[in-house]
Amino acid sequence: MAGTKIVRVRVDPDKCQGHSRCKALAPALFELDAYGNAKEIGNGIVPEDQLAAAHLALANCPEMAVEIIEE
Ligand code: SF4
Repeated sequence: MAGTKIVRVRVDPDKCQGHSRCKALAPALFELDAYGNAKEIGNGIVPEDQLAAAHLALANCPEMAVEIIEE
């Protein structure tokens, strides 16, 4: 569809230190591994109603490990 952007979240595994703030703020978008490090759920696509949560997670990650990618 013209003009429709796909928005994804991604966690940079080299930067993530496992503070889990992203998971607390956007539990529908992030999951934690056994060490508490975060990863985007599935393909990371952010539904419209999760956009605000995605930006909140980005703003609150102390390691700046959360990325938002618009395609
Ligand atoms: S808030 Fe940042 S550092 Fe913490 S788990 Fe999420 S991505 Fe990793």
